Amino acid sequence: MDIFRFNSKVKNFEEIFFDSHCHIQFDDLDESIDSIVLKAQQAGLNKLVVVGIDNESTLKSLDIQEQFPGYCYSTLGNHPYNADKDCKFILDLLDKYPENFCAIGETGLDYFKNNLKKEIQIESFYNHCEIAKRFDLPVIIHLREYKDCIEDCLSVLKQTGVEKAIFHCFTSDLQDAKRLWEKGYKTSFALLTFYPKNKHILEAFQNCPLDNLLIETDTPYLPPQNMRGKQNKPYFLKDFLMFRHNSN
Ligand SMILES: [Zn+2]
Repeated sequence: MDIFRFNSKVKNFEEIFFDSHCHIQFDDLDESIDSIVLKAQQAGLNKLVVVGIDNESTLKSLDIQEQFPGYCYSTLGNHPYNADKDCKFILDLLDKYPENFCAIGETGLDYFKNNLKKEIQIESFYNHCEIAKRFDLPVIIHLREYKDCIEDCLSVLKQTGVEKAIFHCFTSDLQDAKRLWEKGYKTSFALLTFYPKNKHILEAFQNCPLDNLLIETDTPYLPPQNMRGKQNKPYFLKDFLMFRHNSN
């Protein structure tokens, strides 16, 4: 299997025309995996990163990776909502399949919509970062809201020495984005970048250097503006081509 680990240098936009974050392994999707993958290929996406949020969803993303080798890639971790769950499965899976995961996560901090205490979330995030550093894998980070938790996040990254970080579904402004880009981190933009109220996110997207840029759907969440209320799908990423061309 070809080993993809999110390259640090990017030659052109086509290279990053893939879904850096989707959950097509979730049970409640209204379309089959085969159909989703086929339509993603037809839309020109070069790969799909299927992100784990706990042990069970990680195993399912691994199955999908085996079903579509070289196209679907798996990550492993406990989402901040699952920060009270054990990280042992992560170490066990990395031990068993050292080559099979392209990133650790999603992990992170959510002080907005999470019942778990800050301390529990920080501890879980810290553990994920230590593992990412040890196995030289990028770490996929969920932060909400940025202004509440970015300082705690940067402090954990500094303590654990993580150099490869992906800020999934970036929802802050150009000022915060620049702080992340300066450290070589990547920001991943979702389709909510184009909602009319999100001009600050759009500004960050339009100024993002290629080496720091990723795009994603976060399927089944966050559909494009004209599909709100419906399930998102990786093939909706073609909207990015339009905005990219409009902004150039
Ligand atoms: Zn996610």
